[in-house]
Amino acid sequence: MSAIEPGPVPADPEAGPAEAVATPAMRVLGLRKTYDEATVPVRALRGVDLTLAAGEFVSIMGPSGCGKSTLLHLIAGLDQPSDGEVVIAGESLSGKSEDDLARLRRRHIGIVFQFFNLLDGLTVLENVILPALVAGGGRKAAEARARGLLDLLGLGDKLDSVPSQLSGGQRQRAAIARALSNEPTLLLADEPTGALDSVGKLEVLELFRRLHAGGQSILLVTHDEMVAAAADRRVQMADGRVFEDSAFPGPVQVEVEVVVGTTSAP
Ligand code: ADP
Repeated sequence: MSAIEPGPVPADPEAGPAEAVATPAMRVLGLRKTYDEATVPVRALRGVDLTLAAGEFVSIMGPSGCGKSTLLHLIAGLDQPSDGEVVIAGESLSGKSEDDLARLRRRHIGIVFQFFNLLDGLTVLENVILPALVAGGGRKAAEARARGLLDLLGLGDKLDSVPSQLSGGQRQRAAIARALSNEPTLLLADEPTGALDSVGKLEVLELFRRLHAGGQSILLVTHDEMVAAAADRRVQMADGRVFEDSAFPGPVQVEVEVVVGTTSAP
């Protein structure tokens, strides 16, 4: 499905119960990550369960250090969990080789970072074409899609500019176009407005809303209340766990850990 076309196909009314449930864009189950620092291990994720239905737009907030970026990295297959499982579009990341992970990432995941990560030696158009070429697509089809995306994202007149000639908001829109180049199942965004002024932030927010309206599944990490409010579901993390989830109001059960023999547990 293209991010710019109408959303997920509604369940077939003739289908049986199994087919009527669309495959979630993403599931994480019992996800744990401990960084084995030399002195004290850092328990960045302490058991996260989260499912993102196809077409959902979910924001994740939480204090610095609570594990948001770690969660995003694990979902993207950029790092391995210590325990638990990540499933993208019905496919588990567990036990996959680096090559298979890279393939799965190219097919299913688009990532947007705070600082754009565009290549300044390339034009905007070339930046957006690049992931499709890396994925082995033909140049002509990749270019046609990139032009369409950039047009849709309001950058149709910036195709031949280099990133340094763009405003922050325009750069982030180009980075979003690049992330959508391979029609990902899931768009991940880590503080995508963190480096933008208020105009750029509004531009990018409006774009996320439009992509969501077009059926794109989005998982966005932010410190910004206004950005989080653009999502249709809000998840709050604290201390390596999901603390609140607007899809499941009420207290979230948190297992209590008793650490014996130390007073300096992380
Ligand atoms: P957030 O994105 O919510 O600020 P992070 O996921 O970046 O949180 O970090 C969670 C915890 O894991 C923090 O204590 C951080 O210092 C630690 N951490 C993150 N990445 C690493 C790493 N590569 N090596 C060691 N510790 C890390």
